[in-house]
Amino acid sequence: MKDLWDMPKPITVDSQNNLIVPDGGVVIPVIIGDGVGPDIWRATEPVLTKAARLSGHALEFVEALAGQAAHARCGQYLPDDTLDTLRTYRVTLKGPLATPVGGGMRSLNVGIRQALDLYACVRPIKWVPGVPSPVREPAKADMIVFRENTEDVYAGLEWPAGTKEADDLIGYLATNLGAKVRPGSAVGIKPMSEFGSKRLIKRAIDWALKEKRPSLTLVHKGNIMKYTEGAFRKWGYELAAGEYGDQTVTEGAWDGKDPGRLVIKDRIADNMFMQSLLRPDEYSVLAMPNLNGDYLSDCLAAQIGGLGMAPGANLGDGLAVFEATHGTAPKYAGQDKVNPSSLILSGAFMLEYLGWKDAAERITKALETVVSKKILTYDLARQVGVTPVKCSEFGRALVDHME
Ligand code: NAP
Repeated sequence: MKDLWDMPKPITVDSQNNLIVPDGGVVIPVIIGDGVGPDIWRATEPVLTKAARLSGHALEFVEALAGQAAHARCGQYLPDDTLDTLRTYRVTLKGPLATPVGGGMRSLNVGIRQALDLYACVRPIKWVPGVPSPVREPAKADMIVFRENTEDVYAGLEWPAGTKEADDLIGYLATNLGAKVRPGSAVGIKPMSEFGSKRLIKRAIDWALKEKRPSLTLVHKGNIMKYTEGAFRKWGYELAAGEYGDQTVTEGAWDGKDPGRLVIKDRIADNMFMQSLLRPDEYSVLAMPNLNGDYLSDCLAAQIGGLGMAPGANLGDGLAVFEATHGTAPKYAGQDKVNPSSLILSGAFMLEYLGWKDAAERITKALETVVSKKILTYDLARQVGVTPVKCSEFGRALVDHME
């Protein structure tokens, strides 16, 4: 048995919230999740462990309970101990957690994001060569979505139709603001702050500059929701001009030649959905409010092979939870069937975040090799008519083909 001195020390941060990753290795809490969570985790763990080991890094996983597994153990879906563990170890890998529709408990996923103030949901969209796709040129969809994660209609401020709370709010709106809402309606509130919008957009601009990306697009529905989504656009341009004036240029002021600066543009969300299919190569980094980001990231994921191929991260200041974009896919739970790549790529994204880029690259290279041999889970196999492998077989193939 290891004693405490042998255990890797938790990751810490400096005064700027930059990670300090201990040399002796890293402990990562894992929320395995509901539904297909255990299937994809079993396939993912050996892939991440081997990639880290081949790159000379020690990686240990400890289970952090949430969802059904936590409820079965202690009667709570999101125990405080779990949130404390996530805060202590700072970087977590997470499987999907179920949320009932139209009632029942609030989303545990939203709960974790809010409790840890993980304000940026970051979803890279990059096609792995050889992965079947419904579009002709999936390599053109090389984008990264920065979605605000704590505000907007996802804030959980809504009341059911016919309740006292909803009726009181409707009464207040009529009496004090002259705003008419049909009596008996359900009502929800869409809060969007300058602080919340600007810190998300700042994170996206910093990333775009660091990675030398050509443009950043603010995606909004500001023509209709002028004071929320319209303000998101306005705050984005203000921030770019105020804090990054010498490193950015607006699309309007840009002459179309290489500006050597980050081009800041904006698109109305419905147009952006069309653009993402028709002219994806004109877009690079996308920053947007919560609901737009949820929809658009799944739409973009479809272009690179579907939700089974879509990684993600929820980032705060000095805290991060990496997770697959998809949910619990309940109809496939326990069948050892679904594609684990989404969690595996989230793990690769996490290794890169730890500064272990070599380990992340081993995973993406192994993925390319395995896909090129037409070793595919059901979701991709059905697009090209080959016999699918199981989730666990796909994970083993990645381990076997990793160099
Ligand atoms: P979902 O679980 O993402 O599944 C929707 C569809 O996406 C599946 O039926 C499947 O498509 C495909 N899919 C998902 N994961 C896949 C994988 N690993 N490999 C291949 N295909 C995959 O969405 P949902 O059915 O709307 O939601 C189910 C539950 O998950 C809900 O309780 C929801 O609240 C929760 N959820 C959680 C998270 C999270 O934890 N962050 C995110 C989203 C949803 P086919 O049927 O076409 O094969």
